[in-house]
Amino acid sequence: MVDLAVLASQDVDMAALLTNPTEILIDTAGGPVPATVGTLHGSELIILHRNATGRPVAPHALDYRANIEALVRAGVHRVVTTAMVGSLRPSLPVGTGVVLDQFIDFTRDRRSTYFTGHDFGHADMAEPYCPELRKSLLQSAQHLDVAVSPHGCYVCTAGPRFETRAEVRMFARLGGDVVGFTNVTECVMAREAGLCFATYAGVVNLGAGLSDQSLRTEWWHDAREAHATRFGAIIAELAKVLARTPPDTPKACRCATSTPIERPAG
Ligand SMILES: [Zn+2]
Repeated sequence: MVDLAVLASQDVDMAALLTNPTEILIDTAGGPVPATVGTLHGSELIILHRNATGRPVAPHALDYRANIEALVRAGVHRVVTTAMVGSLRPSLPVGTGVVLDQFIDFTRDRRSTYFTGHDFGHADMAEPYCPELRKSLLQSAQHLDVAVSPHGCYVCTAGPRFETRAEVRMFARLGGDVVGFTNVTECVMAREAGLCFATYAGVVNLGAGLSDQSLRTEWWHDAREAHATRFGAIIAELAKVLARTPPDTPKACRCATSTPIERPAG
């Protein structure tokens, strides 16, 4: 059984951490999705890149449905993602890691549900990120003496453009802490699919108006790399904990409340 899935951007090379990594293709309604399976400290992991094509794809054009469906079909119950984000507050400078606990959705023009017909449900999003998996992530970071913020509200915009100064001011006043393009859609899909879902968000830049610097992604390379390294260490620590957890341990969370994707038998 797969203990944990990691869904990350292309530049987070988690597969390099695995023992016996094996490339696989998972059939989904949206076509085959490539992934890597392997072991890490005794846990079975599956690594899936958000943009499975390997070519640049704008955030609104990513196939979120296929990615989450692939994880379900692989038998996954827990997924941890990483998100490289902009900060909406000077108190969250570049380099800050945040384990998200809330979101505000400003996306549009993208499909962000599995429900398309008369047979639909209303996913409970009061607590969008799995409390158990969040706790495990925070404990893993603590074991490593890595400082992360235990709370953070992610504002998801449509992208691919960045925000205006007025938008950054508004998002902060609404209660947002960080901003990005992808996380909310993944989070909603995961909840509809009944998966436990948690995210490590790494601040790579300050939002518009909070710094004199222009917003240029190529300048954030060092911050992205530092977050990717830290995320890999946290996942390795989490893998140790999961390896010690009996597979039939009952879950205290309520993430698996709706499952529009049929799970494979067994
Ligand atoms: Zn859960």
